[in-house]
Amino acid sequence: MTINLPLQAPSAAGLIWQVTRNEQAKTPAEREAILADPGFGNHFTDHMVDICWSEKGGWHRPRVSPYGPISLDPAAAVLHYAQEIFEGMKAYRHADGSIHTFRPYENAARMQRSARRMALPELPSEIFIESLQRIIAVDADWVPSAPETSLYLRPFMFAKEAFLGVRPAKKVNYYVIASPAGAYFAGGVEPVNIWLSTQYARAGKGGTGAAKTGGNYASSLLPQAEAYEKGCQQVAFLDDEGNLEELGGMNIVLVKRDGTLVTPESDSILEGITRDSILQLATDRGHVVERRAVPLDEWRSGAASGEIVGAFACGTAAVVVPIGRLLGTDFEIVHAGTEASALALALRQELTDIQYGRIEDRHGWLTRLDA
Ligand SMILES: *Cc1c(COP(=O)(O)O)cnc(C)c1O
Repeated sequence: MTINLPLQAPSAAGLIWQVTRNEQAKTPAEREAILADPGFGNHFTDHMVDICWSEKGGWHRPRVSPYGPISLDPAAAVLHYAQEIFEGMKAYRHADGSIHTFRPYENAARMQRSARRMALPELPSEIFIESLQRIIAVDADWVPSAPETSLYLRPFMFAKEAFLGVRPAKKVNYYVIASPAGAYFAGGVEPVNIWLSTQYARAGKGGTGAAKTGGNYASSLLPQAEAYEKGCQQVAFLDDEGNLEELGGMNIVLVKRDGTLVTPESDSILEGITRDSILQLATDRGHVVERRAVPLDEWRSGAASGEIVGAFACGTAAVVVPIGRLLGTDFEIVHAGTEASALALALRQELTDIQYGRIEDRHGWLTRLDA
């Protein structure tokens, strides 16, 4: 069954969406069974969004269709040259049943920056926001309501053109899929141990580190496996000069004794919206925030002298996690201090209180998706 729905309010781009309902959608009972224990990234909703782009036609044919396999030519450029970008965000259900997302214009702008770096077309912000509203319009029942659960939204874009020559693709597709997410730390937020990779880097100077692109993740998988072998859950990377960069998929913030927060500024890290928001909340509380190059040695000597009392990692999926240990090949930093953990957890609480509508959204960070 296909219904052509004009937009309630025509977007700037004036798109007419084609909506095809999934006849094999999960029953309410099946859906509730999944939502009772969704985990992360295991289950997907009944529908997906896709929009085509071509050099000649620009963005066209926006669709909502049943979730399912994508048919690709074996020569599709993405499969060979990794021309791909993505975003990650969440839809939160508030106590009154309404559904909101967090700072989506920041994700839209970041996806445009990623697109520029990866020679992909930029998706206008209005279409990006509309694509999120469209998937929620059909899959709203998939947004869970248990505490600290959400519907993870995964917009992504890749080179679909079947061509083995090396140049930016002239045919590209943009999609949104959605996956219910459980409370990341069911038993309370536990500090994580981090392995410092010195043999490998996730990105280099002038590389693609600032773009949210699959290749950066591909290059982090081997060091991530090494981290597991060392008994750590995550891996941290340095730049060529020995400055701290970030984890495979989360940013890092160091906490000084006087409450100052220090975080790496670098052209080769992915600038997290969670980090930016947490640092804004910390600034509101009177903390000094420093965004600058952070030599690893500063962390090591600061931890030894007591100048640096802790550290935390942050990103959309896990929100904020205190770092308990940083393990290197020939050294170890242990942050047993409760003070920095308490600060990290207080900032986490405040951020999630805003996201779930439990306190005032004083920065205007929420965008409603279901109306
Ligand atoms: C997505 C991502 C982050 C975190 O960004 P958020 O906007 O906070 O989710 C950090 N590092 C990398 C490499 C990422 O891909």
